Amino acid sequence: MNFISTRGICKDEVSSAYAIKTGLAPDGGLYMPTDIPSLEVGELRELSKMTYPERAARIIGKFLTDYTEDELLEDALGAYSGDKFGAHPAPVSKVDGGRYILELWHGPTCAFKDMALQIMPRLFVRALKKTGEDRTALILVATSGDTGKAALEGYRDVDGTKIQVFYPTDGVSRVQKLQMQTQEGKNVCVKAIVGNFDDAQNGVKRIFSDAAMKQSLGEAGVFLSSANSINFGRLVPQIVYYVSAYCDMVSTGEIEFGDRIDVCVPTGNFGNIFAAYIAKLMGLPIERLVCASNKNDVLTEFLTSGVYNRTRPFFATISPSMDILISSNLERLLYITLGQEKTREYMEKLKDEGKYTLSTEDFATIREHFVGYSADEDETRAMISKLYKEKNCLIDTHTAVAVVAQEKYARAEKAERKILIASTASPYKFARDVYTSIFGNENAPDDLESLEKLASQTGTQIPTPLASLLTKAPRHTDIIELGGMDKAVADFAKA
Ligand SMILES: *Cc1c(COP(=O)(O)O)cnc(C)c1O
Repeated sequence: MNFISTRGICKDEVSSAYAIKTGLAPDGGLYMPTDIPSLEVGELRELSKMTYPERAARIIGKFLTDYTEDELLEDALGAYSGDKFGAHPAPVSKVDGGRYILELWHGPTCAFKDMALQIMPRLFVRALKKTGEDRTALILVATSGDTGKAALEGYRDVDGTKIQVFYPTDGVSRVQKLQMQTQEGKNVCVKAIVGNFDDAQNGVKRIFSDAAMKQSLGEAGVFLSSANSINFGRLVPQIVYYVSAYCDMVSTGEIEFGDRIDVCVPTGNFGNIFAAYIAKLMGLPIERLVCASNKNDVLTEFLTSGVYNRTRPFFATISPSMDILISSNLERLLYITLGQEKTREYMEKLKDEGKYTLSTEDFATIREHFVGYSADEDETRAMISKLYKEKNCLIDTHTAVAVVAQEKYARAEKAERKILIASTASPYKFARDVYTSIFGNENAPDDLESLEKLASQTGTQIPTPLASLLTKAPRHTDIIELGGMDKAVADFAKA
């Protein structure tokens, strides 16, 4: 299986290892496989008897054909081991009636990014070998919270790599900051910067395109790479859990092979929901994909009107991992439904005018599969409280956005199919907002106290990786000016 650019200006096909090593196509497009492999009901039956790592190796292997079965199984066993993810990396639990929650936060950083970022570094290291690369890869990450920590955990002590993360010193939550400050590993570097997330992101982008930096790092035997969700290596592990969840729902008797279900995903960069769509294209019996947005509802507007308009106010919400106005992976949806030429045109419009409008025909094609609904802050808080009080189900702020969207969808479209709702973070990762949504703002605890108060008042347990934050000493406490980022990268590359 080869990979091509979504924009088609660059026509070269590349191997999966090459696509994973480089991340982005040379024409600015994203890499996509030339075909979508299929998944027949017979194979679903087989998969349902397998463990999660076996399912992962089988499905990832359909795309990464230059990796052997043994390699992929070894990587999946290492990535999804019991000491990192517990008994099941992605269990399904029933809320009520036809609603099910797919819990994607049992990994080491308590957010769904672990599902991809635990295995991707392993695929990446093999990609270096397969492409004959002998330099060290320095993974540079600018983060507003979840990605940085998940990438640090994924790449720590991985041979042939170093990882350096920049986060805005006043722009992440106390829990997120402590998660990064206490990071262990010999090849990691974490710096707080004086500035906001955009400053950190722009700094990293500037360093990526700095020829002098590239030259001097090259002399030291180092090249720069990225770990964000435009890399296909992050997308492909996310297909696995939708297939796995379907198999588990059959095994527990909730559905039968061939029954169609809906899937609802709290969305930011459109990576997670796009993985569900690929699963559908492969043949997994999914009917509609419900794209849930918070107050930054650019995707809801897109899926109800066909207009993508990023020139709009930006809101900082209690579901910060979905605070995004440019959903990068939407480009992959355009490519797969409309082709390279139209994708290129729409992307050029987005760049030049900040918006584009789908033709009636193009919009209808996308609407066959996707619907969009959004939740404001009050609706999100009310849903956290309602699910806890009525269903004894404790969910985080991002998952709550999805449940609000699911209920709006069910009401508006009289949808009666069973629906799988992706739960993307542990409620403890956003403990303060979860706590105050349920118990009110009076005597509101701070971020860290919230962990303990949420546990004692709900009778649930703080996940081990977050509980240990309360006792670990910070190791990475440097705060640097924006102007110091280049030196920080150069110093770390040579260290
Ligand atoms: C990253 C993230 C999302 C958004 O996922 P996308 O793949 O970017 O759409 C949702 N919830 C949480 C908790 C996240 O960390």
